[in-house]
Amino acid sequence: MKRRPFIAGNWKMHLTASEAEGLVRAVVKGLHGNEEMDIAVAPPFPYLLPAAKWLAGTPVALAAQNLHWEPQGAYTGEVSGVMLRDAGCCYVIVGHSERRQFFHETNETVCRRLKAALAAKLIPILCVGETLEERRRGMTRQLVETQILEALKGIPSGDLTNLVVAYEPVWAIGTGETATPGQAQEIHDAIRGLMKKVVGEETARQIRIQYGGSVKPDNARELMSQPDIDGALVGGASLKAESFLAIIRAGL
Ligand code: PEP
Repeated sequence: MKRRPFIAGNWKMHLTASEAEGLVRAVVKGLHGNEEMDIAVAPPFPYLLPAAKWLAGTPVALAAQNLHWEPQGAYTGEVSGVMLRDAGCCYVIVGHSERRQFFHETNETVCRRLKAALAAKLIPILCVGETLEERRRGMTRQLVETQILEALKGIPSGDLTNLVVAYEPVWAIGTGETATPGQAQEIHDAIRGLMKKVVGEETARQIRIQYGGSVKPDNARELMSQPDIDGALVGGASLKAESFLAIIRAGL
């Protein structure tokens, strides 16, 4: 069974407001209207509200890059799921490896954020993936499974029907190195197998598992043609309309 592809662009901490507007408008303009897939962009927080206006009435949805687990409160510098929903977001990235690496995210805080996303009716894009060292030590599968199990701890399986998982080997993010389609498919297959145990066969078959890690126009088609790769989470190549659109076309 092939699932509806989902391609999301993670802009990280890039672009000025006018560059962001130019990029959104160029992506929307470049769509052909026959894109049978879900598409989203995740701009930095200050651009979410204007981006919601630029994207209104288009097939491109809005995603945020992170959220705090409390709905409100004295948490200087944080943004809640309720606020993101209010700003027009449909999706939120949770547990990106850069959050884990630079901002001390743990599986436990990822779980709290995931619950907050679901409570705010946002679709979480749960990021998992191993470092190069962990891959070399043969720990990839076990590590990814642990990341998922701990992130989903205490969440009823009925709440996970829309969950998106992004497998992003850390060694492939922003490095120009990509997992081979075979390497990626092997882990995607393992993730789907795990999800069958967690949420049941039928829901696991529907859950989209994106691949992320130096996805570019020239490798996107082969990656996304793997049976368990249902789209891409794109960093660097989502910052230019031309390359993001080429990746979208590769997913058709
Ligand atoms: C990412 O930010 O999730 C990512 C995969 O980045 P890049 O495509 O630049 O490797």
